[in-house]
Amino acid sequence: MNIEETRKRIDLIDEKIAELFQQRMEAVEQIAELKKDNNTAVNDVNREKAIIEKNEPEIDDKWKPYYRRFMENLFAVSKDYQNDYIGKNDSLIKKDADFSVFRVKAFDSSNAAKASAKLHDDTINGTVGSFCGEDGKLYTFNSVYSAFENVPDIRKASYASKIEGNDDYNEAVFSWVNRLNNIKVPHKCVAAPGGTGAICLAVGNTIGKGDILLYPDIAWGSYKLMCGQFGGKAETYNLLDGDELSVKDIMRKCESVMERQHKVVLVVNDPCQNPTGMSFTKQQWKDLMDFLISLSERGPVMLIDDIAYLDFCNDSERCTSYMEYFNNMTDNMAVVITFSCSKSFTAYGMRLGDAIILSNNETQLDHLFNAFLRSARSWWSNVNNGFMDTVTEVIRHPETYLAEKKTAVELLKKRTDLFVKQADECKLPIYPYSDGFFVTIRVDDKDLLNRYTSKLEEDHVFCVPFSKGLRVALCGIPLAKVDGLAYRLKRVLDEVK
Ligand code: PLP
Repeated sequence: MNIEETRKRIDLIDEKIAELFQQRMEAVEQIAELKKDNNTAVNDVNREKAIIEKNEPEIDDKWKPYYRRFMENLFAVSKDYQNDYIGKNDSLIKKDADFSVFRVKAFDSSNAAKASAKLHDDTINGTVGSFCGEDGKLYTFNSVYSAFENVPDIRKASYASKIEGNDDYNEAVFSWVNRLNNIKVPHKCVAAPGGTGAICLAVGNTIGKGDILLYPDIAWGSYKLMCGQFGGKAETYNLLDGDELSVKDIMRKCESVMERQHKVVLVVNDPCQNPTGMSFTKQQWKDLMDFLISLSERGPVMLIDDIAYLDFCNDSERCTSYMEYFNNMTDNMAVVITFSCSKSFTAYGMRLGDAIILSNNETQLDHLFNAFLRSARSWWSNVNNGFMDTVTEVIRHPETYLAEKKTAVELLKKRTDLFVKQADECKLPIYPYSDGFFVTIRVDDKDLLNRYTSKLEEDHVFCVPFSKGLRVALCGIPLAKVDGLAYRLKRVLDEVK
């Protein structure tokens, strides 16, 4: 087959597309007329989603993301025409905003679990993403909250001294993360409201309209949400190769994105990945960094390393040792490490975190820092001053805190060891757990997952469904209730299969 013959085939297809486009626009005009008469909104996000979902199975897997883009562009053209035809812009909200009903599954399930607990003693609330003690109440570190009490009211009431956060806080957080002194790359920090804010700074300043953000196939939902907010395209990589955690698919997907976009923005949530509790080995990190370094010869590479659960790693040194591999990055790369005080200091409501920008390229480091500052100023201005002082103090004198945290990590380990052991005994399929708050039951089929979640709720067990599994938040379940839970989960899984 030569290029001329192939072009003839494409010409014929394009003729058909033109014919179909004409027919489609005639139908669109009728819809516009009806919408005008009935005063109905032009935008209908749910219908767009439904059309894509209905037709996508016909499309080869490798073209699905392109098909989505094609349809989204088609919808945009149709809506532009409808608005022009009706002669008005009926959308107060910007055209590409998704204003379909928004619910956070974890919050909904958590409320249902609390209601169930009032009625049934055997209720398991596996939805709580925060660390709770054996009394079922949120765990608070005395060392942290006594330091907070000692912060003078006037400091708590004050604005931070700088938009990027107080210097002593930023340096304290950097030293905390760089506990092994293995990060030698120049860095700059921008404080943010939680790890969420830090990730938002990184995503919002690298992902523009149509840009691809790569993140895990089973992941914390906010990566996708943020990507959508900035008009980006979410694409995922598989965390597993067969039954093993692997970086192979990250590399494959990065190759593909580099080829199409000539730039890669990659999110890795490690160590203690949410929701699976998987952590890469040091060797896997080395392989990944070696790969990204060579990839950056072809175009810019940004790695966002979300370390939200870092301090609940079983080994507080092992969890940062891989960071030495960041040192070898080329001038065409940057890493943003996103830190969360929510987990490390059990301070979810204090809304504090940090974006640590690393780059060997001085200009790039300055550009990222300045862009982050601008975003921070416009999105939230500055962050919790009193809690910055608290964290600075705790990090400067960490002995009591470290002892308290050790107890918490040991308690978590008792729960997860027991669960993993019993899951193994009863053959409950879980992702290969290593560290952290959560264990996830592997359920690839969406319908099965929905049936499983509902049936468990009938059985008073509440967990949060993710894209490829059901997350059991062992961080929030007392040991006595963890005992036997895997068996209970397996029995219901067998029932719904
Ligand atoms: N990253 C992951 C994987 C998370 O699960 C969370 C919160 O649940 C965050 C980041 C951000 O947390 P926060 O904004 O409370 O620091």
